[in-house]
Amino acid sequence: MEKLPFERPVIKKLNAGMPSKFGMKTGISPITHIDRVAVKELIEENGSPLFVISENTLRKTYREAKRSFDTRYPRVQFAWSYKTNYLNAVCNVFHQEGAWAEVVSGFEYEKALALGVKGQHIIFNGPDKTREDLLRATNNNSLIHIDHFDEMYTLTEIADETGKKPRVAIRVNMDVGVYPMWDRFGFNYENGEAWDALNRIMTGGKLELTGLHTHIGTYMLTAGAYSLAAAKLAELASGLVGKYDHVVSYIDIGGGFASRNTLKGAYYSGADTAPGFDDYAEAISSALSNSAIKPENMPLLILETGRALVDDAGYLLGTVIANKRLSDGRRATILDVGVNLLFTSFWYDHQLNPAQPMSEHTEETTIYGPLCMNIDVIKEAAVMPLFKKGDNIVISRVGAYNMTQWMQFITMRPRVVMIGSDNKVHLIREREKLETINSLEKLPEHLKTFKL
Ligand SMILES: *Cc1c(COP(=O)(O)O)cnc(C)c1O
Repeated sequence: MEKLPFERPVIKKLNAGMPSKFGMKTGISPITHIDRVAVKELIEENGSPLFVISENTLRKTYREAKRSFDTRYPRVQFAWSYKTNYLNAVCNVFHQEGAWAEVVSGFEYEKALALGVKGQHIIFNGPDKTREDLLRATNNNSLIHIDHFDEMYTLTEIADETGKKPRVAIRVNMDVGVYPMWDRFGFNYENGEAWDALNRIMTGGKLELTGLHTHIGTYMLTAGAYSLAAAKLAELASGLVGKYDHVVSYIDIGGGFASRNTLKGAYYSGADTAPGFDDYAEAISSALSNSAIKPENMPLLILETGRALVDDAGYLLGTVIANKRLSDGRRATILDVGVNLLFTSFWYDHQLNPAQPMSEHTEETTIYGPLCMNIDVIKEAAVMPLFKKGDNIVISRVGAYNMTQWMQFITMRPRVVMIGSDNKVHLIREREKLETINSLEKLPEHLKTFKL
């Protein structure tokens, strides 16, 4: 018999903590390590604040999502939504896992090319594609998702000029029972605009209609909305076969799956209420297989999931700057992490834990960031342990949108490190310095000197 490895026994103090008025435990447990690396060490070596990304969590989440769809639908392809987090290291983890690139600007398109993604594996979305962007995407055989008629006309001109047939899909917006409806992107399904666009592409003969696309919203808390979206795109796909004998090669359902963050004002935690990948996959794949599309024409299913793939892998570490009392006696704690780094704190009630064991005493506290701005509030009124100056904190589930929407405002953007699957800590983005900012500025000659 194989000998089991020896594990040292540990003695741990059990502490139910001070009860809240509902009799429940109020203590917030510390997060001292991320992927077995000590938070204190990460801060000592890289400064505070600090973004940390777990490569293991990225890969685990991706594989979980992929499996949910692969087990339910014959052909599935993910395309990584660059705007959700376009740090090169993050993109390449997803590309290594097999994801294509989904971009919404010329800049993001260039970023994907620079990382080595081939043109035919780049999906180009969004309302702002310049003529040069469209020409390059046409020459590279990328999948261009048309947002409006003006873009379709430009593409038709490019087709004439180059003699090439751009590979296109139309973006379709639709009523899926979630309001307000995202109807500013693409062509509307209900009022017939989508058919109008499809008819013009098919009768024009200059563009190659390869797919149908929708992206119904973000943080969608109901999987049912995706059944409706998939059914409506399937309806268009089978209509195209009926009318033009044309088979589209893919249906792209976009992104928008909820992550496990909790929305502000929500009664239950997002971890308990958000649908999982299995729920979304079930809704989408059954809508497609129950549609009128013939089995031999079943399209490739593309997903552009952003938020739900990356949120859990991101952490933001910070340090307590000070405590004070507000005029009404409320406790306030000021962190070196503000809304400049945590854009999503406008929508999410982020989970914030101490990075060291704390006493069981808690008090309702408002958590502020470091900016000299009244809006810089991370948590309005949260039951928090009594932090001291210099204590460290860990904010969880910040991988989506924060490292793209962060602002260089009052302070500079900090380092980002990735804890690799090799268990090493890799610096993946350096902190900004005064020179970083000043290198972009020019001072006119007559403004170079002054006397006070
Ligand atoms: C932003 C975006 C996504 C990703 O959305 P998530 O809500 O992060 O999943 C996918 N597709 C398009 C077209 C987008 O604009």
